[in-house]
Amino acid sequence: MSEIINGKELAKSIRLKLKEEVNELKNANIRPKLAVIMVGNDKASKVYVKNKSKACEEIGIEYEEYLLPENTKMTELLELIEKLNNDVTIHGILVQSPLPEGLDANEAFRKISPKKDVDGFHPVNVGKLSLNQDCFVSCTPYGIIKMLETYNIPIEGAYAVIIGRSNIVGKPLAKCLLNKNATVTVCHSRTKNLKNITKQADILISAIGKPKFVTKEMVKEGATVIDVGINRMNDGKLIGDVDFENIKEKVSYITPVPGGVGPMTIAMLMHNVVKASKQH
Ligand code: NDP
Repeated sequence: MSEIINGKELAKSIRLKLKEEVNELKNANIRPKLAVIMVGNDKASKVYVKNKSKACEEIGIEYEEYLLPENTKMTELLELIEKLNNDVTIHGILVQSPLPEGLDANEAFRKISPKKDVDGFHPVNVGKLSLNQDCFVSCTPYGIIKMLETYNIPIEGAYAVIIGRSNIVGKPLAKCLLNKNATVTVCHSRTKNLKNITKQADILISAIGKPKFVTKEMVKEGATVIDVGINRMNDGKLIGDVDFENIKEKVSYITPVPGGVGPMTIAMLMHNVVKASKQH
């Protein structure tokens, strides 16, 4: 019998707990505040930014949005980040990616003070995660670990296979799982015999961005399947990387899209903002 991991509900309970923590912080005269910078008009980014502002509002985190035009220069973006770094009322800074062509997202991430880097993309936080030291963990991997832990899915000793090696999902997730004593394989577009690898996974995570890429033949009976992919179809429907309907009976646990990893990513961002304001 398989269980569907309810990321939406879990994220809601995390937000509720954070709301209480924010109230306590406010009683101590600390008002957590997140600054979000968005450059250009990327449609998907607009939705993500809106969801982040909604979550802040619900929890009581103050929110400032900087919408910069498509033709913003790198120097202008860096100057704004510097200004926000120096603003003591701001605890978290986030640069929404992707940035328009010509702007270097990595340079922007590097400019954010590691203490305000609530996305966990700054090299200092990336390095600390590698060393298994306290840091801001990027939100999607962090949310996945929280889901596994909440559902008591054993990580230690498990064989975890990740499809996708991006800096925001695949790579940091591999480190998180390794830090929790899983045995980890990271696959990518040049991986040979992908199916032979994924079929052995106790925990299979797909983060590639290809609708229904992971088929029933690719998963082991009783495995846990985590679907990070968000693919918007022509009819406007969102679907994941995993062929959910055909796989769900074969596995022990599976996340849906929407309602799985997505809400957890935002909840963990909120967690990181609260953490930043406590450390401030
Ligand atoms: P990227 O495009 O940065 O990375 C995709 C990865 O998938 C790459 O490592 C690529 O390999 C690999 N890949 C592509 N095709 C194949 C293939 N046929 N076989 C094996 N590996 C393949 O994507 P992101 O990590 O940014 O995002 C992945 C997906 O997750 C997207 O759908 C995105 O929208 C979603 N997402 C969802 C989030 C959430 O909160 N739910 C948060 C972040 C992302 P290579 O490196 O060799 O090119």
